[in-house]
Amino acid sequence: MQAPDRVRRVVILGGGTAGWMTAAALSRSLGDAVAITLLESDAIGTVGVGEATIPTIHWFNELVGIDEAAFVRATQATFKLGIEFVDWTAPGHRYFHPFGQFGAPLPGVAFHHRWLKAQAEGLDVPLSALSLAAQLAAQGRFAKPTGDARSILSTLGYAYHFDAGLYAAYLRRLSESAGVTRIEGKLHHVERDGETGFVTALTTERGERIEGDLFIDCSGFRALLIAGAMGEGYEDWSHWLPCDRAVAVPCARVAATTPFTRSTARAAGWQWRIPLQHRTGNGYVYAGRYLSDDEAAATLLGSLDGEALAEPRFLRFTAGTRRRPWRGNVVAIGLSSGFLEPLESTSIHLIQSGITKLLTLFPNRDFDPALADRFNEVFARDMDGIKDFLILHYHATSGRDDPLWRHCRTMPLPDSLRAREEQYRRSGRIILDPDELFREASWLAVLNGQGIVAQGYNPLADAIDSTTNRAQVRQIAEVVARAAPTLPLHDAALAAMLGTS
Ligand code: FAD
Repeated sequence: MQAPDRVRRVVILGGGTAGWMTAAALSRSLGDAVAITLLESDAIGTVGVGEATIPTIHWFNELVGIDEAAFVRATQATFKLGIEFVDWTAPGHRYFHPFGQFGAPLPGVAFHHRWLKAQAEGLDVPLSALSLAAQLAAQGRFAKPTGDARSILSTLGYAYHFDAGLYAAYLRRLSESAGVTRIEGKLHHVERDGETGFVTALTTERGERIEGDLFIDCSGFRALLIAGAMGEGYEDWSHWLPCDRAVAVPCARVAATTPFTRSTARAAGWQWRIPLQHRTGNGYVYAGRYLSDDEAAATLLGSLDGEALAEPRFLRFTAGTRRRPWRGNVVAIGLSSGFLEPLESTSIHLIQSGITKLLTLFPNRDFDPALADRFNEVFARDMDGIKDFLILHYHATSGRDDPLWRHCRTMPLPDSLRAREEQYRRSGRIILDPDELFREASWLAVLNGQGIVAQGYNPLADAIDSTTNRAQVRQIAEVVARAAPTLPLHDAALAAMLGTS
């Protein structure tokens, strides 16, 4: 058998969150067998506003060997138990999308069918009463999940809010100590092979030439390799997700930090509030066709809960995706591969999932096209599933008459989302593909939170006696209600981890 022609040189273009996450994971996984060079331009800078994550961040941090306490300290992180949605369903309404599970794992049919049956038979227990994460968040408390399935703590899930700039700097230190070479400079030219079209080298404005076998495009919205060199197009989803601008501003931290992101619906979009240890991140994501930049900034600055710490920063984007983020010997990871707006904090997850897919499908120098096809297929499924989940938030609303919300309420939905909504309404079932990111608990939280009422439930729930079922559901709510006040306040839990309590 002939020895395979291995990839020996990887070049990463871009040193934002995507670039340094990729460098850290590849250097950790490939060791000395592959030389990794990262080119980034301080003059261009990074987007740097990705501050909220979802629980999949744990497997990335484990992959690159990050110690949790060191990470929380270095990135000024706080814990996140989910997202509080304020005024989304209708003005004055609130609901919580928690991480982790609702109820408890009981034998037989999925728990939420038990709850739907109990509700249909007169039990008045709101969904949020069945989530320990939601109750902890409401009380400003935090605890980590345990592995003991008999404990209500096993139903918890959590992620972090962190300073994205500090996270990238932390990963840069890890990567450089693992041998990654960083070159500071602006890309000037991309050299390609006349026959295969593969990228062969990048040259900088100062004239450095960086040759490689595999090129990873982490150049952000500019997408200099995947679009600029390889000509891959962009599928625009702004007819479903019309927000295309954001204005961000940090403000001073106030009193106790909250273990959740808050998302408040506004006339032309929504506003985020993300508490960190040293400051609070805020931003208004809006549709430029319905609101001017000045109006957006005024709304944001008028609703901060502390003193603004910087000038407002404006960003522009188009929700959408690339159908072939891997072409030839170029793989796009991060914003260069597509962007779904930050409503459910999925971008950093998509970076990590791009990295793991690349590691699983890591090519030889012949770049077997079947590997790229597989990568692109799985990436498309990820993006399509998340897209539907985001659209649901915008679509299922009532009581707001602003043009953005009218448009979203009446717009034609993707078939996949329409079918899912109808199935839930009819039978309480949540139809998911096996590898979708958002699972039953998340869909249930948002479907129910956005006011979609299930009219049925799985008939298997009728195998359980109604009185027993109601008693068990009520009992779980009582266990949750008793457990929550016994757990630490969020700042105390943080201090315990940081060793400052
Ligand atoms: P960038 O940060 O843009 O980095 C691009 C890199 O390429 C930079 O280093 C730049 O210098 C380099 N570069 C570009 N051109 C050149 C050139 N010519 N020569 C050399 N180098 C070059 N994600 C989340 O997970 N959670 C959130 O809460 C969240 N909030 C967001 C809010 C908003 C408003 C936006 C727009 C995004 C948000 N995101 C969030 C997404 C998150 O910010 C990005 O996924 C993340 O920052 C990764 O960006 P990136 O590294 O792909 O691109």
